[in-house]
Amino acid sequence: MHLTSFGAAETVTGSCHLLEVAGTRVLIDCGLYQGDDDLEALNREPFPFDVRSLDAVLLTHAHLDHVGRLPVLTRLGYRGPIYCTPATAALAGIVLLDSARLQVEDYRRDVRKARRVGEEDRVPEPLYDEDDVHTVQALLRPQLEFGETLSVGNVRVTPGRAGHILGSAYLLLDTPDGRLLMSGDLGNRESGLQQDFTLPPHVDVLVTETTYADRTHRPLTQTLAEFTDALQRSVARGGKILIPTFAIERTQAILYYLKHLMDAGQIPYVPVFLDSPMGARATHEYFEYGDELIPEVRDELHAGGDPFRPSTLHVVTTSAESQRLNRLEGSAIILAGNGMMSGGRIQHHLKHHLWKPDTSLVIVSYQSPHSLGGRIVAGEPTVRIMGEDIAVRAQVHTIGGFSAHADQDDLLAFVESAGNPKTWLVHGEVDVMTRYLDVLAARGVTGDIVPRAEAVDLRATYFPGGRPPGLPVGSGHDRRPDE
Ligand SMILES: [Zn+2]
Repeated sequence: MHLTSFGAAETVTGSCHLLEVAGTRVLIDCGLYQGDDDLEALNREPFPFDVRSLDAVLLTHAHLDHVGRLPVLTRLGYRGPIYCTPATAALAGIVLLDSARLQVEDYRRDVRKARRVGEEDRVPEPLYDEDDVHTVQALLRPQLEFGETLSVGNVRVTPGRAGHILGSAYLLLDTPDGRLLMSGDLGNRESGLQQDFTLPPHVDVLVTETTYADRTHRPLTQTLAEFTDALQRSVARGGKILIPTFAIERTQAILYYLKHLMDAGQIPYVPVFLDSPMGARATHEYFEYGDELIPEVRDELHAGGDPFRPSTLHVVTTSAESQRLNRLEGSAIILAGNGMMSGGRIQHHLKHHLWKPDTSLVIVSYQSPHSLGGRIVAGEPTVRIMGEDIAVRAQVHTIGGFSAHADQDDLLAFVESAGNPKTWLVHGEVDVMTRYLDVLAARGVTGDIVPRAEAVDLRATYFPGGRPPGLPVGSGHDRRPDE
């Protein structure tokens, strides 16, 4: 039972794991590296295996750092099945089309700039375009159902509910060499919309994510109280209330909270604008697959309601409509992507409103220190947005407690339920994983860090002490793309 990780090994993004067992070869996730330029350059490294030799690809969920290199795989000739849950298939199409569009737009802009210095030939081509995404979509097999088993070669695959985002699954893999569990990304059990992950049965080997293996999340009730207070104070200021959000999960959770806070009379019925076409498309899938969500949301859906639609909601589609929002009088809540403010429509709204003292910026996502959002949170008096220096005079509220990822307590509960098996760590910063190994060791669990692009025998103890020699501590990434 051998695993070779071509992503999310010694770092958080780029999940891509090749499992070879008893003559069967499956790739688990095929995600994009996201972060600084060095990390993103890895997206252009060739896969060091013949993609046509794979029996199947299995997806854990639809975040870009888990599916974003699938079109690269099909460009190289992969034409086999890509198994996933139905909701993941729906969301993966949305995520990949958006990624293809952004890459083509960036490429055209870079070529325009490079032409002025005669260097247009040096601009790298987009990794893929919309046609490549359509090839991927034709291969998606939405046949993974929670608790039901599917055979791929000599491996029997049973997905379990991961509680991270809509459709997210961990994968229980029964093989002739033993039972393996690939965690994918596990959800925060305090999460607002997702049901808790189901506790797994005993396994021989666990490969687990470790994004937040070094911390404990604040209780959701406390986070919601902070969010409510920030909104009440923002409404009192009378200006625009900007909420940068990622299109999947956070957008739907914020819409859900806004609706319920308004209906409960905790904040007034101010207009809400969802200025994110991708967010609107994803919200439709949350409506469609609402049976996966917590009972309160499910019940509201079954009763014919729409838990993601505050009564004052306007969905903005065209960019002309988006620009008209700049001239809107009075108070309004504007949700726009992206969540780290590093691109997307939120930048226009920030340019038009960040310098006004009656504006409020309510931050509900993790901000990488080097992103625009990170600089605003750090208190920089002016920030550069779309080529202009803009003064930060808005009131900035940072709500740190929303997270779609398991914390240390969640992760330990998962390991314990799996029978404290041999545990391999992926999807984390090296220093976080190193500290987590000590936590595991104190509980009698043998752990190791999965090295990048090096086959490991999952049944063996690989590195004495759990760390590959020479692996730098604290190296890696700049960004948690999905908090
Ligand atoms: Zn994720």
